[in-house]
Amino acid sequence: MKTLFQKIYDGEIPADIIHRDELCCAFPDISPQAPTHILITPRHPIPRIGGATSDDSATLGHLLLVAAEVARKVGIEESGYRLVINNGPHGGETVPHLHVHLLGGRQLTWPPG
Ligand code: C5P
Repeated sequence: MKTLFQKIYDGEIPADIIHRDELCCAFPDISPQAPTHILITPRHPIPRIGGATSDDSATLGHLLLVAAEVARKVGIEESGYRLVINNGPHGGETVPHLHVHLLGGRQLTWPPG
């Protein structure tokens, strides 16, 4: 059975796709936590970073490079941004298909909530 994000990758659930290639896609988060909030998610459904293996190395590196490329594309390169991966209950993970959050467009605080 396909995950939610696989269905978005495959176009079965509509999303405003910002980037798609053979390994991943990027689209706006449905519940944005910042003026820019984009998810970058692999086509292959790695459940979470804690479950990734060395077989996923190329995909994981690619996700980060695409996140930086998308940040440039949407114009937040200069002002800055944050990349986040939530893992498990204390990390705030709610969708068990790995994704990188790209957040920007406002001053982000630290530590995160
Ligand atoms: O890191 P976490 O698993 O909590 O992130 C899941 C993200 O997926 C949330 O930010 C949520 O708003 C987003 N989401 C979405 N579209 C959906 C369901 C969830 O963008 N249909």
